[in-house]
Amino acid sequence: MLFRRRKDGAGSDPADERATSIADGEDHEAHAPAAGGDDDEPPIPADRAVDFIAEMLRLLGEHAFDVGPKTAEEIEATFEAWARHLLLGIAPPGRETEDAGAGERSDGSKPGRAGDAKGARAPERGSKRDLPGLRRALRAHRDAECDYVTSSLGAFRAATWAFVSGLRRSLTAEQSADRRIGHRMRRLEGAVRGGDPNRIKDEAQETVGLLTEFLAERGARHQAQIREMAARLEGLRDELDSVRRQASTDGLTRLYNRASFDEQIEREIDLATLFGKRGCLIMVDIDHFKWVNDTHGHPCGDAVLRAVAETLSRCFMRRDDFVARYGGEEFAIVLRDIGLPTATDLAERGMMAIRNLEVHHEGLEAPLRITASMGLARLRPGETAAAWVERADRALYRAKEAGRDRIEVDPVDLDEA
Ligand code: GH3
Ligand code: MG
Ligand code: MG
Repeated sequence: MLFRRRKDGAGSDPADERATSIADGEDHEAHAPAAGGDDDEPPIPADRAVDFIAEMLRLLGEHAFDVGPKTAEEIEATFEAWARHLLLGIAPPGRETEDAGAGERSDGSKPGRAGDAKGARAPERGSKRDLPGLRRALRAHRDAECDYVTSSLGAFRAATWAFVSGLRRSLTAEQSADRRIGHRMRRLEGAVRGGDPNRIKDEAQETVGLLTEFLAERGARHQAQIREMAARLEGLRDELDSVRRQASTDGLTRLYNRASFDEQIEREIDLATLFGKRGCLIMVDIDHFKWVNDTHGHPCGDAVLRAVAETLSRCFMRRDDFVARYGGEEFAIVLRDIGLPTATDLAERGMMAIRNLEVHHEGLEAPLRITASMGLARLRPGETAAAWVERADRALYRAKEAGRDRIEVDPVDLDEA
């Protein structure tokens, strides 16, 4: 067994008991105990704890990967459904039909997601949060992940095993050939000593025949081994590629995800340090996106996110351009080895493309138009990733403050330019 799993039953640790007390849903205004158990810390309101759990579920969903037959999207949707169950009281996954429509707001609009945990309401009194069900679902998911990873590692073990046993077969075959060749050589030696030309000729012919046979056999064996190993390595490479792709992209937009962005920006800084070629970072945030969700529903918001992602990918398509979903309705674009004027032009073009975007979605009377704000900062020599992102973020904030639908460049870069 490669991974050990905790098999102990539910409710055996204090965290389980805390969770169950919220799950019972008797008093949604009740206060959950402080996380650290520190007497000086004020207690965490139960609703904030629930918001937090919902955020964690969404985070898990965002980083989901295919587990056996379940796709990352399906897993993300299940986590999302649990988050909505906690926040809005709609039926948990698998029991959706029981109270279809329970999540509708009084104005008939559909509930939002993520950040709107702030505005989320507790389930109606009398309805319960099924935390024990959530715990079971999480445990089952964890077990499935564990099985998947174990069996993937199993493929590596199988490949290594095949290599080792191939080597053993090869050695055994060579040893047996060595014995046969040794025996034949001794007979040839005896014949040479005896001096009978006919016997020498016969023994020499036998020896040459055996050596030819042995060489052909060994060649064929090696070829077969190489073919088998190549096939196995190819399979493993495909498997690794697909896992790496899934782990680095965002399920909704198919752009690079936050984790990839964090890696990429470090890479950019390394390149800048080595070759002195500095890039620009553009942070993009859709304007009034919460309004889209609140007015047209979460699926329509998702369609907007996909459309903006596609637009940005089209606008920034140089080989070294890197477009990522930074989180929620924020995107980050890293442009390698580029001066401020060109980066600003490209960002302007991106803004224009978003302005001209028409999002079509079921139920919309007319295509939806949106805008975005951008903050731009050029990497400074010796700057850390965190400082670079912070400057671009501050510029984005200024663009919002100045009325949105515009680009702001960090003043330090403007001074330098
Ligand atoms: P601003 O112009 O200041 O940026 O306002 P905003 O409404 O765009 O920003 P705010 O941060 O208030 O709201 C962002 C919303 O994005 C809140 C959250 O519900 C929503 N959101 C985050 N992730 C997703 C998602 O994956 N899909 C959908 N549909 N909405 C999301
Ligand atoms: Mg935002
Ligand atoms: Mg926004």
